[in-house]
Amino acid sequence: MIADEIDTILSRRIAVLGERVLGGGQVDREEAMDLFQLEHRADIFDLLAWANRIRETFKGNKIHLCSIVNAKAGGCSENCKFCSQSSFYQTGAPKYGFVDPEPVFEAAEEASRQGVTALGLVAAWKGLNEGPMLDEVCDRIRELSEGGKVRADASLGLIKEQAVANRLKAAGLECYGHNLESSRRFFPTHCTTHTFDDRLRTIQLLRNAGIKICSGGIIGMGETREDRCDLAFSLREVGANVVPINILNPIQGTPFEKNIPLEPLEILKTIACFRFILPRKEIMIAGGRTVNLRDMQSLIFMAGASALMVGNYLTTVNQPVEKDLQMLRDLGLDPSWDKHEFVDQEELALTGIDATAARQPIDEDARSAMRPSAV
Ligand code: SF4
Repeated sequence: MIADEIDTILSRRIAVLGERVLGGGQVDREEAMDLFQLEHRADIFDLLAWANRIRETFKGNKIHLCSIVNAKAGGCSENCKFCSQSSFYQTGAPKYGFVDPEPVFEAAEEASRQGVTALGLVAAWKGLNEGPMLDEVCDRIRELSEGGKVRADASLGLIKEQAVANRLKAAGLECYGHNLESSRRFFPTHCTTHTFDDRLRTIQLLRNAGIKICSGGIIGMGETREDRCDLAFSLREVGANVVPINILNPIQGTPFEKNIPLEPLEILKTIACFRFILPRKEIMIAGGRTVNLRDMQSLIFMAGASALMVGNYLTTVNQPVEKDLQMLRDLGLDPSWDKHEFVDQEELALTGIDATAARQPIDEDARSAMRPSAV
């Protein structure tokens, strides 16, 4: 057999899992790991085709666009090894205090002009407590929300008190960005100043307050495929609504500056596996896509992505928004995600879909056929 010819047993196995997900069922961790371990190009493209069908089924041709504005830059007390804003590393990234209303208004205007659904206020600090800074943050969120140009989102670090989450909700915050970053196992490898559990607790407080959760991670930090798989299952467990996948863009001066970049096909396969595990969620490709995927960026949608972070990232430059919009038009995808809600993520009745597909087991031949390809 030619090495990259599609293996029919593997192909059948991917198809069984794909049909199960399309029918409203789920993949378990062992099955998902089989997908993460696919090695051959032809099998990976087979996987992408199924991920694309799952995206089309649950998300249609709508693509959710988000952008961010750095509301407080640099000087962060945390030591996340990928981050240029940590005070532990000398990176030359900009530093400034919490922004006035004008830059936020301007960012909202620009985002709205470009058809972007949501604008996230992002602050480089450990977290938010009751006090004057929370008052100021709530003012910015209220202004953004009442301005009505974009959905008011934020990513403001750890939260330890329910009252803080409740105040953000009362100010008009709809969705909070708080990545789990990686698996529980890998987390201490990239950060030791706070824990995976601190992040879970923050998400719980936000959910209690009725705030939607944008939570994902970074791939390419040196984690294993098992770590990526476990991250996806943790995100399923915490009920993340939007799942950003960042791809490490090694920043000079950080401990990860010399990390070897992931191959584009490994990145696309990871996105596809996330789509199998999280079929109804907004899977958003965020930082690092331009530098890591280059000309293969448009394949993220075939891999199952349904959302895109556009505009510049916190400290790195992205391709121009117009280029992203052109890419979507060329693919027949529609960035006018007008619902500004998350109702399409609810479990759907399996109307019109063969519900038995949701329970269809994998036959052992197909399952064992995947094992030899595992590394
Ligand atoms: S990722 Fe966030 S918490 Fe970690 S160092 Fe950067 S700004 Fe601070």
